[in-house]
Amino acid sequence: MVIIMNPEASEKNIEDVISAVKTSGLDAKVMEGSQQKIIGVIGDKTRLAAVPIDAMDGVEKSVAISKSYKLASREFHPQNSVIDVDGVKIGDGHPVVMAGPCAVESLEQLLEIAEVIKKGGAEFLRGGAYKPRTSPYSFQGLEEKGLEFLQIAKERTGLKIVTEITVVEALDKVSQYADMLQIGARNMQNFGLLKEVGKCGKPVLLKRGLAATVDEWLNAAEYIMSEGNSNVVLCERGIRTYETYTRNTLDISAVAAVKHLSHLPIIVDPSHGTGKWRMVKPMAFAAIASGADGLMMEVHTNPAKALSDGPQSLTPEHYQNIMDGINKLSGFMKNEGLLR
Ligand code: PEP
Ligand code: MN
Repeated sequence: MVIIMNPEASEKNIEDVISAVKTSGLDAKVMEGSQQKIIGVIGDKTRLAAVPIDAMDGVEKSVAISKSYKLASREFHPQNSVIDVDGVKIGDGHPVVMAGPCAVESLEQLLEIAEVIKKGGAEFLRGGAYKPRTSPYSFQGLEEKGLEFLQIAKERTGLKIVTEITVVEALDKVSQYADMLQIGARNMQNFGLLKEVGKCGKPVLLKRGLAATVDEWLNAAEYIMSEGNSNVVLCERGIRTYETYTRNTLDISAVAAVKHLSHLPIIVDPSHGTGKWRMVKPMAFAAIASGADGLMMEVHTNPAKALSDGPQSLTPEHYQNIMDGINKLSGFMKNEGLLR
């Protein structure tokens, strides 16, 4: 439920409403609306049944939230959220790019790619140290060594680090090195993991599950947020359909759906979304044109030799070409007032 205060409501009116909510054993969160304050009520709203909230001074009306997720819903938080990852803002209108290899393979490989992506304008270096591979015989990642290499690349370039956490046991370790924790598609409904990253407070990049609906995805975000961590960014990375030409079917319409249903920023990963490097450029442009807050793209200095996801990895030249286009496209959208 959200309680919408009228524009003339005093601080005392707001405090009284919060106190009535808390006395009923629920939690309250105050948000600034464009004209007025909104109080979000967290918990089982039937506990408020005996409290005449709508009759309290300063209250304009109370509105029930119809969705199973609340904190992630736009009903609860009408304004777009901007997530600050150690100074880099996601969702403030400029496209944030996260780029790098699928997996951290060696220090040399990582540093070379980090320089390339930094030069092109990316703000985050991505790279898996723990890789959730479909086959147990595929390269599983360098684990802690990989994290150490990410740290060195961060120190050399100033790029922020986003890297995947696959098991709860690795949380303390990964949190020491990562600026943002990535929850991969295969773990989107690993509720134990979602709750733990919710408790740790680090910004989270939550990828869409391979076969998850938008509703299930936003409920996964709710698991993180309900533990007190509202620093969640969503990442559309394609879903399973009957189409086999592409690795996944990139659901660009999910950007518009999420923007309508939620206040959380959303970025798009056209690399995993298509599985083909040639399709990354047009899908990256489509993502930005659709209102996405950024992109995640895989880049490798030698895709043919990559230990994972070579076919979808961009060479430095292709990456730079896409970044030039993204700059022009986002500049055009801004100048023409095409952003929301
Ligand atoms: C990745 O980003 O490296 C990755 C494994 O992606 P996803 O979880 O979307 O498959
Ligand atoms: Mn990959």
